[in-house]
Amino acid sequence: MSDTRGLLIVLSGPSGVGKGTVRAAIFEDNPYGYVYSVSATTRQQRPGEIDGKDYHFMSREAFEALIEQEALLEYAQYVGNYYGTPMAKIEEDLAAGHDVFLEIEVQGALKVRERVNREDAVFIFLAPPNLTELEGRLVERGTDAQSVIYERMQRACEEIDMMQYYDYVVVNDQVPKAVAKINAIIQSEHLKVERVVDRIHAEIHQYLQGGND
Ligand code: 5GP
Repeated sequence: MSDTRGLLIVLSGPSGVGKGTVRAAIFEDNPYGYVYSVSATTRQQRPGEIDGKDYHFMSREAFEALIEQEALLEYAQYVGNYYGTPMAKIEEDLAAGHDVFLEIEVQGALKVRERVNREDAVFIFLAPPNLTELEGRLVERGTDAQSVIYERMQRACEEIDMMQYYDYVVVNDQVPKAVAKINAIIQSEHLKVERVVDRIHAEIHQYLQGGND
């Protein structure tokens, strides 16, 4: 692959780890011009969320039509709702050389891992400093009932085990530190030899053909 195509960046990790906060902090300045992939979901819009920016909110029927049309790169059912990644826009953005950023749960991230070329994507697992803190974050958020929090914690324990299938782990102890680490990972990935070698070889070839002596 050359370094002209964008990278698919998959940020994942258990619910409550702070994926949304870290992603929002990354996109606040966005000095590297990442493009955020807006997911489709059937869950209810929360106060302050904007349709088309935070999610594409839709009915189950509309979501199932997307599944039917094979328009999703991946999708998962999560605590009774569908969440999925629309495919067409991602391909367009990657081809235009933009890094595309996905913030999705673990099940979906593993599906993406099966579907894309490993050299085109970077999988980053956001981990909690510890489980007590993770539970505290879910309670503090106050958007879910106690039974949902328990369900999310059970799932979180299974998900933390999936970290082995990722390329990098970033512990979210402080948001600015996590953001700096994620940006460093992505920028280093761009400098990998396999991403730049084709372009440099082409340049050498052109130079030598040009008869510079
Ligand atoms: P929330 O309801 O808190 O916004 O999101 C619940 C979970 O769904 C979070 O872990 C979030 O990262 C994940 N999620 C958001 N969009 C997608 C998506 O397109 N696909 C998958 N698999 N998970 C998603």
